Amino acid sequence: MDILFNNQIVSRDSVSIDIEDRGYQFGDGIYEVVSIYNGELFEWEAHLERFVRSAKEIALTLPEQFDLLKENIMRLIEDNHIEEGYAYFQLTRGTALRMHAFPEPQAEPVLTGMVKNATSPPITAVKAITTEDIRWLRVDIKSLNLLPNCMAKQKAVEAGAQEAIFIRDHYVTEASSSNVFGVKNGVLYTHPINNLILNGITRQVVLRLAGNLHYKVVEEAFTRDELMDMDEVFITNTGLNVCPVIEIDGMLIGEGVCGPITSSLMSAFGELIQRNGKE
Ligand code: PLP
Repeated sequence: MDILFNNQIVSRDSVSIDIEDRGYQFGDGIYEVVSIYNGELFEWEAHLERFVRSAKEIALTLPEQFDLLKENIMRLIEDNHIEEGYAYFQLTRGTALRMHAFPEPQAEPVLTGMVKNATSPPITAVKAITTEDIRWLRVDIKSLNLLPNCMAKQKAVEAGAQEAIFIRDHYVTEASSSNVFGVKNGVLYTHPINNLILNGITRQVVLRLAGNLHYKVVEEAFTRDELMDMDEVFITNTGLNVCPVIEIDGMLIGEGVCGPITSSLMSAFGELIQRNGKE
């Protein structure tokens, strides 16, 4: 399989990452995951904008010829005949003697990317657990440091669930790999954009669709108790898009089935996907 390595399309086997790559040793880097529908990237501009912002927030210089990124990823999509799947790319601060402070002079950043076919059948609903949000206070940066997210997801899996919803000081922030929405009396609730959540691209699309459908949306944090009392709960991310949460900590949400507002957003999202790259 071919991958992207510093602006070159090369075979995966030919790439080696240095043991002192800062991404490898410190998690000093950032990444993005972008959906592919109809052989085209979905919401590319929004993902690129977030990637550039993440780089800026950690003072990571973009590599030379960064503007070739989309072209190169499109080449991977075409070469691998991907109709539906995802593209992953990441940037690390490069290789330098193992010292915590940023290398001076700067190291060459390392950019890698790959594309994958959609594999598993789409997930139609999930069960979730709640767990303390033990992450750092800059999760708005899409950094490679995902250990607390992995630990939370593992806890969910061990409890027979598929997602872990983070609670910080009694309030729902987001989930281990998704944003969280609740619906109560026809009104949508989700955590506001700040340093405590990742500004999900899917979240942004859903807010747009909710506006088109004339739903009232309140971007305010809600508590775990309020979460458990919602009529509907759903999560959003690249891959799942809009996915109902039917049970949390062993308790049914609403009737324990996908609710009507979640369902209408799923349909609207589905239409958007079908049109991807065709307009
Ligand atoms: N929040 C976290 C912690 C995530 O890891 C993700 C995606 O992986 C999201 C939210 C959703 O982001 P997006 O919709 O851009 O995929």
